Amino acid sequence: MKAILVTGGGSGIGRAVAIRFARKGWRVGLADIDARGLVDTAAMLPPERTSTHQMDVRDPSEWEHVLADFTALSGGRLDVLFNNAGVGAGGPFGEIGLDALDRVIDVNLKGNFHVLQAAGQLMTMQGSGSIVLFSSIRSLVTEPGQSVYSMTKSGIVQLVRTAATEWGQTGVRVNAVGPGVIETPLTAPIKAQPAWYNAYADKTPMKRWAKAEEMAGPTVFLLSDAASYVTGTILFADGGWLANDGRFTPPGM
Ligand code: NAD
Repeated sequence: MKAILVTGGGSGIGRAVAIRFARKGWRVGLADIDARGLVDTAAMLPPERTSTHQMDVRDPSEWEHVLADFTALSGGRLDVLFNNAGVGAGGPFGEIGLDALDRVIDVNLKGNFHVLQAAGQLMTMQGSGSIVLFSSIRSLVTEPGQSVYSMTKSGIVQLVRTAATEWGQTGVRVNAVGPGVIETPLTAPIKAQPAWYNAYADKTPMKRWAKAEEMAGPTVFLLSDAASYVTGTILFADGGWLANDGRFTPPGM
């Protein structure tokens, strides 16, 4: 039985991808800092093929324990890693405090680094594996108030590319998905402000936000053998956001 570990599996996109892999008959390990979220996601998956691991991606020793516990259940294998845990912090430059700066860098950059480092070591030793990290359209385009978040999502792109170049010849692939605007608990504060929520839908050529489930397809593709010659790439799943400068729609168009 193939095995996947999902960080941030207690909510949103991580939960949607975990459900998709469980339907394919895989063993699924859910790792998250949020105990309640872990219980809620696990309740949607077959118990005999599901394990939960409460942990903080900021702590490398916790992640090493998760890897050991999970591989003890999976016969020593980790076929696929979906490293999706992430947090945001918005606000003008002048108002971003050291706490917020550290929190977002520690989870989004250092957390991804720790998780990638230890899982990559395991996969390169087994001689196969596929890893997906979660970046964002904010790695390429940004807006006022997104300094820290955008900085970390750009950093993830170079982390992916470097890991792909180091591990390519070992059979381990590393890629990222770059979502546009997705309805999850992370973006609930935006949804609560209709002008902001509607402006994002309007900027997107598809004129709507995505559901978390719509991120499962691109993620499963990159993680699966269908992408066997794809590594070091960022697959944007953004409803066309990056294709559209959004400045003006000429009359009659
Ligand atoms: P979410 O808040 O629903 O899920 C994030 C999960 O990560 C939560 O379960 C949370 O508990 C977990 N997490 C946070 N800090 C953690 C830590 N220190 N250790 C372990 N787990 C931790 O958000 P989501 O929208 O599903 O986001 C998933 C990923 O997608 C994130 O990396 C996010 O930046 C990225 N993303 C989301 C959007 C969007 O519009 N929702 C857009 C672009 C990128």
